Parts: sequence; structure tokens; C-alpha cells
Amino acid sequence: MFDTGRGVAQRLVQAGIAPAQIDRLFFTHYHSDHTVGFADFWLGSWLPAGGGRSKPLKVAGPIGVQALIDGHRIAFADDIRIRVADQKLPIEGTHIEVASHSECGVLFNENGLKVTSFEIFHGKMIKPNWGYRIDYAGRSVVIGGDSNNDRSVAKIAANADLFFHSVGAADETLLKFPEIARILQHHTTPQQAGEIFSVARPKMAAFIHIVTPSRPGL
Ligand SMILES: [Zn+2]
Ligand SMILES: [Zn+2]
Repeated sequence: MFDTGRGVAQRLVQAGIAPAQIDRLFFTHYHSDHTVGFADFWLGSWLPAGGGRSKPLKVAGPIGVQALIDGHRIAFADDIRIRVADQKLPIEGTHIEVASHSECGVLFNENGLKVTSFEIFHGKMIKPNWGYRIDYAGRSVVIGGDSNNDRSVAKIAANADLFFHSVGAADETLLKFPEIARILQHHTTPQQAGEIFSVARPKMAAFIHIVTPSRPGL
């Protein structure tokens, strides 16, 4: 699985996947909209209703992943202690094996499944920030990650079977607010993403992470 945004545990269940079936997680970057679902996913997967995880979860990502996981362990130490004592849940199901990477490259390569990370520009201060390419049995999926019109992804996603690209857009009345303009400066417009798709020529392209900022009162 890649990132844990809001509602990830619910989305897994809606898709017919028990959270405990996910044994590996990769993070793209540490904006909260990519991480706030982690606690619900992690601890929910340990509960019987989430599939009753009994083995460690493996989590990989760019620098920052260790702090994110360590912080969660501290925050939920009491919950874990209580459930082990009270519900007799196996403590191993809460363990997390963290792989913190300072450089992009192949992060996983087993049984013909390869996961490769690549850097992508999201904003001058938003680093590290990665996308991922997944290859298996001659098929490929590219998750572009959050990005600001970074054309380098077109080469990575060339002829991919499936290419996900995040986008953001707002109408002109909203763009005059600096806080909204700043958000949009960190994203790719649907038009720009379309141009990237036309260069990469994937078999299927999809917009994801559709940012449509709003402003209370408007
Ligand atoms: Zn982001
Ligand atoms: Zn985001």
C-alpha cells in the first residue's frame, strides 16, 4: 500500500480487503493528508475486526518515516498495553519494521514484484517527496506522487499500464487569495497532467488526489 490518507482503513474494507492483509506500506512524503490515516489502519488491522494482524507491519519511505512511526508508538503505548493485557491480543501484531531511505531506488524486489521510488518536485520546501513505480510480470503502475508540473515523471511512466497523477485546480475567484494560490503552486493542473499523459502515453491514465481548495464563506 502507498500512503495512508484520511479514511484509508474504511476504503480498504469497502474494497473487500481486511487491513491486516496489507503487509507492506510505502510513504511518498509527510504531508498530513498522506499520513493521518496511519493510526486507524495500523491499530485497526491488529483488532479482530480488521483481520487480527499477528506479524510486524513493514513500512518504508524517505527520511522522516522513523520519526512518524516512533511518534505513533509513543502516542498509542497505553492502548497497546491495555489491549494486550485485557483482550490478549498478540503484541507482535503492533510491531513495525521501519526502512528509512536517504536515496531513491529499488525498495522492494521479491517474487518478480519490484517497487522503485523516484524523486518528484512538489515544492522547494517539501522534501523529500517521492513517487513510485511498481513492476510485475511485464505490467507496470506508476504513482506520480504529489507534484508541481514535474515533467520528469513522463519518462518514468512511459508506456506504463496505469499512471496515476495527482492534480489541483481552483477557479479565479479563489486564486486571488494567497493561501489558496500557495496550495495550487504545489500541484499540477489537470491540463498540465494531460500534457504529461500525452508524452508518457500510458495504457490507462487516472487523476487522483484531486485538490479543489475552498474558502469558508465563499
Ligand atoms: Zn503533498
Ligand atoms: Zn497531498
